[in-house]
Amino acid sequence: MAGDCIFCKIIAGEIPGRRAYEDDELVVVHDINPQAPLHVLVLPRKHIEKLTDLTSEDDALIGRMQRVAAQVVEEAGAGDFRTVFNCGEGAGQSVFHIHLHVLAGRGLGWPPG
Ligand code: AMP
Ligand code: ZN
Repeated sequence: MAGDCIFCKIIAGEIPGRRAYEDDELVVVHDINPQAPLHVLVLPRKHIEKLTDLTSEDDALIGRMQRVAAQVVEEAGAGDFRTVFNCGEGAGQSVFHIHLHVLAGRGLGWPPG
């Protein structure tokens, strides 16, 4: 756990988060500022700051994040969806603990902003 990381604190239960799913490696929480009717964040319990910090050891973890994203959307009956990783401030990353955004429940334009 990284000391001042808000997502590590949510994972540890030190600050509240509305959980949609959890297992031994992942916690899925509803985004506090949802951008779609369903907007959840898939969080690895392991603190990794950015996608550029991944190693080959994390390959299965990233695959699991995508699979769990699809599972959460399917269980919610939310239809088509988009998953997004923002990497770096210029791409919109504001919390430096990797997280997969999962958006569903409305039409999603392309390209994203
Ligand atoms: P990003 O800008 O890609 O780093 O995404 C960070 C996301 O975390 C944003 O969509 C925020 O709304 C969300 N967020 C920030 N704080 C919390 C929190 N305490 N609980 C749930 N989501 C949060
Ligand atoms: Zn963290």
